[in-house]
Amino acid sequence: MSTDPRDKRLRVSILIEFEGANYVIDCGPDFRQQMLSNKVTHLEALLFTHEHADHTAGLDDIRPFFFRQGDIPIYAHQRVLDELKKRFEYIFETENRYPGAPAVEVYEVTNNVSFEINDLHVEPVNVMHGKLQVFGYRFGNFAYLTDVKTIAAEEKEKLRDLDVLVVNALREEPHYSHFNLEEALAFVEEIKPKKTYFTHISHLLGFHAEVEKQLPENVHLAYDGLQLEL
Ligand SMILES: [Zn+2]
Repeated sequence: MSTDPRDKRLRVSILIEFEGANYVIDCGPDFRQQMLSNKVTHLEALLFTHEHADHTAGLDDIRPFFFRQGDIPIYAHQRVLDELKKRFEYIFETENRYPGAPAVEVYEVTNNVSFEINDLHVEPVNVMHGKLQVFGYRFGNFAYLTDVKTIAAEEKEKLRDLDVLVVNALREEPHYSHFNLEEALAFVEEIKPKKTYFTHISHLLGFHAEVEKQLPENVHLAYDGLQLEL
C-alpha cells in the first residue's frame, strides 16, 4: 500500500564487508535477489542464525559464488548444520555429486567460543526464539540479533558498549517467538547501544515514515539497502 521504497521489505539478512571480504548472515528465499540488487560479486562466508526457512531457503543460490570460488564456508550451530544437510542433501553430498551442485565448507559455531573468519573476529550470542536457540553475532562494537524473544542475563553481558545494535521488532501485537515493538524498545533501554536499527519487521508494524517518527532518538527502523559504516 506504500510507495515508499523503505516499506518494500525482503526477508531479513545483512552483509558485512570487512577488509574487502563479504560475509552474509542468513540466506532466505530472497538471497538471490539481494545479491543481484546489491551487485555482490564474491562471498567469503555465510553465517546462520537458525534453521527457519526465511533464513535458509536460499542456500542453493550460492551456486554462482561456488562456480567462481569453490566451496563456500558456512558457519552455524550443529543443529542448524544437521537441518541444512537434510534439506539440501545434494549440497553436502561427498560421493557421486550432481555436476553443478554447489558445495560448502562446514564450520560449527559453539556458544561462548568466539572465532575468526579470515581477520574478522566473531562472537556468538545465544538468544531464544520462543523455545528455539538462535545465534546472534557480535563483530567489534556491532551486534546483529534477529528472531529474539528472550535473552539470558549472561548473554546480555556480551552486548555491552555497542556502537550499533541491529535487533528484531516484528509488530505492535505480542508474538510468541519475536520481540514486538515494546519489547524491542525495552531491550534497547537495557542494553543501551549508541544506535539501534530494528529489523525483521512485519507489514503489520505500519509504514516506515510513521513508525520512525514515534521512535526514540538513536533508534531507527532498518530498511532494505540500508548501509552503515563502522
Ligand atoms: Zn525469521
